[in-house]
Amino acid sequence: MNPSNKLEAGKVWLVGAGPGDPDLLTVKAARLISQADAIVYDHLVGNRIMDLARADARLIYAGKEASKHTLPQDSINQLLVDLARENLSVVRLKGGDPFIFGRGGEELETLVASGIPFEVIPGVTAAAVCAAYAGFPLTHRDHAQSLTFVTGHLKDGTVNLDWPALARPKQTVVFYMGIGAVNEICRQMINHGLPSMTPAAVVRNGTQPDQQTLLATLGTLPSRMAEFGIKPPALIVVGSVVNLQAKLNWFEKK
Ligand code: SAH
Repeated sequence: MNPSNKLEAGKVWLVGAGPGDPDLLTVKAARLISQADAIVYDHLVGNRIMDLARADARLIYAGKEASKHTLPQDSINQLLVDLARENLSVVRLKGGDPFIFGRGGEELETLVASGIPFEVIPGVTAAAVCAAYAGFPLTHRDHAQSLTFVTGHLKDGTVNLDWPALARPKQTVVFYMGIGAVNEICRQMINHGLPSMTPAAVVRNGTQPDQQTLLATLGTLPSRMAEFGIKPPALIVVGSVVNLQAKLNWFEKK
């Protein structure tokens, strides 16, 4: 890998930016960001990462905060095609991993349909980030033998998920985009059989200096989150692994 290599023209790299700390980029992501002609980036990609871009790179903000979609998905898909057809090297930069609740698949389908070559570069997803920086493992032989990532995105006031499967014991369930639905999430998990004392946590702004972790239970998490005014981006983690934070926390000041 030669850093002075110019990137191929007319190609798109779908790149995971991780949580926003440039130190947590892959080496390949950092190289591509510093070489691309154009970068189309999302809301959760931090400034410190965008500072790695070339001074003359074309930087295009594609947005996407919950309920505030800056560019509609179809326009983003088409934008990538148009930039590649201008013969630019294009980085499509997404927070975390592009294939985990990142709509990366949809964007690639448009590229395939248009005959545009591409590569995919994974990134550190929020669940891995928040667990590492909050100080609890996501699996542990004494606590959880399986791990599920689900979207807690609220649609018409409900979250349509396979609650009986999510409420089984001995697993960890991580809810992305679940902050607005915390009442519904906790209520459903309890209604489907988990004790209200089941440990549950929320981690906000993973890796940032103001990272905040609240440890609670399914019964108390909604009121704890309201008390502390927890806003996105934050992850809800359900399962007894979260209690290990008391022992393993290394990053957050208490
Ligand atoms: N592709 C991304 C996820 C995009 S969905 C990834 O792999 O991480 C956006 C959701 O990710 C947010 O609503 C939040 O639940 C979670 N998230 C992203 N960054 C986060 C962070 N720094 N701290 C806590 N949660 C985060």
